[in-house]
Amino acid sequence: MQSQKQFKRRFSFEFFPPKTDPGKEKLQNVRSQLAEVNPDFFSVTFGAGGSTRDRTIETVLNLHKQGISTAPHLSCVGGTRQDIGELLDLYKENGINRIVALRGDMPSGMGAAGELRYANELVEFIREHSGDTFNLEVAAYPEFHPQARNAEEDLQNFARKVKAGANSAITQYFFNADSYFYFIDRLEKMDVTIPVVPGIMPIVNFSNLVRFSDMCGAEIPRWIRKQLEAYGDDTDSIRKFGEEVVTNMCEKLLRAGAPGLHFYTLNQAQPSLRIWENLGISEREKISF
Ligand code: FAD
Repeated sequence: MQSQKQFKRRFSFEFFPPKTDPGKEKLQNVRSQLAEVNPDFFSVTFGAGGSTRDRTIETVLNLHKQGISTAPHLSCVGGTRQDIGELLDLYKENGINRIVALRGDMPSGMGAAGELRYANELVEFIREHSGDTFNLEVAAYPEFHPQARNAEEDLQNFARKVKAGANSAITQYFFNADSYFYFIDRLEKMDVTIPVVPGIMPIVNFSNLVRFSDMCGAEIPRWIRKQLEAYGDDTDSIRKFGEEVVTNMCEKLLRAGAPGLHFYTLNQAQPSLRIWENLGISEREKISF
């Protein structure tokens, strides 16, 4: 973990672009609550195959102009170099300086994969097209990407993204801090040193968490799964237990030298804020974890 300690810690919150007017209003409210704690940036997801392109743009520009730097996610599957280039130009014109660059997943039944097949090709293209305009974040998988042929190749593929010009990475969420520590150790042995910020998923709803985790290859440890199952419909107990488990893991990560945290908010303020407050992050200049 030594390599991560040199980086300044940064804290961020991720949103998805709302579809409806009530969803937009709710996000505005969530944004106001989270802006209070002065995060380093917000980010906004980009639907599979570009399905939320316009909503992502609208949400990013709207959040960005309200004062907290906002990073669009941008995935390359299904897109052309021309589409992606136009989007990069639009973001540049609007003062966006950070992008989360991803391959993304092709929605089933949707056409060809596009001109750029993997995230390393997207990073390379962004550097070619926009030079150093953007700080580029890429995805990292401490528990390995579900489609990876094997763990070793997945690490090599992560290193390709760094070589192509990524500045930092955000991980898929996990509930086992050791998977993150081991991932960082492996990167250190490969001389890959960029900040790798843990992605944090607050636990609020058991069935949704199981569904998401199955899809993205994140493991819910048996002791957590069994305890959540035992709470059944008792959402209050799920929330309390989830908050304690995730807070403890974040504390362990920060103590060991993780360079910040990125919260998957699912457009809810309170679950992430409670963890934030438990950790005392607002006082981050004063405390040493
Ligand atoms: P890559 O890094 O390209 O890796 C994908 C797979 O291909 C891996 O198995 C890898 O080992 C392999 N691979 C990589 N490069 C090569 C190569 N050159 N040759 C052969 N094999 C290779 N999805 C969305 O649709 N929208 C979002 O907004 C979004 N945001 C995300 C944010 C974060 C922080 C994370 C962790 C994930 C996010 N995702 C999002 C999910 C992501 O798009 C999927 O996990 C997707 O399947 C992989 O994207 P990637 O950028 O990690 O792909």
